[in-house]
Amino acid sequence: MTVTTETDVLIVGGGPAGALLGTLLARRGVRVLVAERQTSFEREFRGETLAAPSAVSLRRLGFGPALDKHGFLETESVTMRMEGRKVLHVDYRRFPIGALPIDIPQPSLIGIFHAAAAGLPSFSYASGAAFTDLVVEDGTVRGALLKQPDGSTTEVRSRLVVGADGRFSKVRRSAGLEARITPMARDFLSFKLPRPADWGNQAELIADGDKHVMVLPTFPDFLRIGHNLPKRGLGELRRTGFDSFRAGIAALDPRLEPLLHEYLRSWDDTSFLEIFTAELDQWARDGLILIGDASHTCTPILGQGVNVAIQDAVSLAPVIAHALAEPLGGGHGVVREAQLADFVQQRRQHKGFVTKFQRMQESALALNSPLQKVLRRNKYRVLDRLPIKYRLFDRVINAPHEIDTIDLQLSSLSATPVTAK
Ligand SMILES: Cc1cc2nc3c(=O)[nH]c(=O)nc-3n(C[C@H](O)[C@H](O)[C@H](O)COP(=O)(O)OP(=O)(O)OC[C@H]3O[C@@H](n4cnc5c(N)ncnc54)[C@H](O)[C@@H]3O)c2cc1C
Repeated sequence: MTVTTETDVLIVGGGPAGALLGTLLARRGVRVLVAERQTSFEREFRGETLAAPSAVSLRRLGFGPALDKHGFLETESVTMRMEGRKVLHVDYRRFPIGALPIDIPQPSLIGIFHAAAAGLPSFSYASGAAFTDLVVEDGTVRGALLKQPDGSTTEVRSRLVVGADGRFSKVRRSAGLEARITPMARDFLSFKLPRPADWGNQAELIADGDKHVMVLPTFPDFLRIGHNLPKRGLGELRRTGFDSFRAGIAALDPRLEPLLHEYLRSWDDTSFLEIFTAELDQWARDGLILIGDASHTCTPILGQGVNVAIQDAVSLAPVIAHALAEPLGGGHGVVREAQLADFVQQRRQHKGFVTKFQRMQESALALNSPLQKVLRRNKYRVLDRLPIKYRLFDRVINAPHEIDTIDLQLSSLSATPVTAK
């Protein structure tokens, strides 16, 4: 594999944010290189639910046929139960957006983006290439160093580096952009079980005190289960034994008991996720921008991380194309921080709102005293009956998205997902 050593835009990270941005830029004729350290589209860390605004955006961008060909699952509603009582129900079909959240495996989604870009002359993809450091001259980012699978290092010079390398972004660290990390009170263990045929397409959150499970119907025929555990509590959980872990989940949702016994055999069937948010005062420098989880890490709550990553890519693509066409003076064509300022301001507002809501939700779910539980149930019941319930959730789940900025002069897309070699 030959890696380009000079390009207009170098994107570090081929997750949802980087893969989509690479495709959108290549479709505009921008020379773009996506560098991804992994050699397949499998990801250790992945969200699979796409909120409705992303589903709408992707269709507007021409990805509809590829999504339809692959298949996905539409989630119709979410119900919250606390201490055995139903406290809140949100029917996604009642939102004015007129689309439902969809569930599709992240490798397939990235594959769809990749397939759409693969044949475009201005697109390059460096599989297995890991970012190691930025190339900085006179305070301006001029490119990056990539470690290739054979151990060699390539210097890629570019007019803009996009850090789309996720929640532990190395690009962010190399750029000296400080992130405020706020750990959530608890961490998460997740796993999948086969979904019984009569289960339905509703998401459910079942809480008892400070323990909860999130049960999400997942494409094609799974249930994705998320179970909270105390911060850094995995060791203790393991010491209490696997049977007691399964029993704890079955106590929250007895319907899961037979599935747990048949299909969840050991800790190896589970994935641990440390939950935190990361926020930055500065997302850009001359020659550099961060997007997706690298710029603002979301938590799994309300399934918004992939959504905001996709919206970042959709709204940034035209900004980059414009900035490259009209570089500010004296920069040797490097995209300047000032040219990205409006994008940063708009996206920071949206992501800040999502994070605030996620924190509120997490704080509520961590309550455990008898009085707190009663108050919490009452609060959710009141919310359930509020006339503005759908307006409020619409603002959080279907927060303003950027489809108006999408360039609709689109070439048709390949509908076939591919697997990276
Ligand atoms: C348990 C859990 C469940 C979740 N479920 C959902 C959900 O259902 N819906 C939802 O919307 N969100 C969900 N999220 C959040 C969501 O997964 C993330 O917000 C989203 O993946 C962010 O996309 P991204 O492209 O910014 O980063 P990532 O998806 O993290 O992608 C970053 C990419 O960069 C690559 N990379 C990293 N370092 C380097 C390097 N040095 N060089 C080159 N490449 C590198 C990685 O391999 C990866 O491909 C969930 C999160 C958790 C913890």
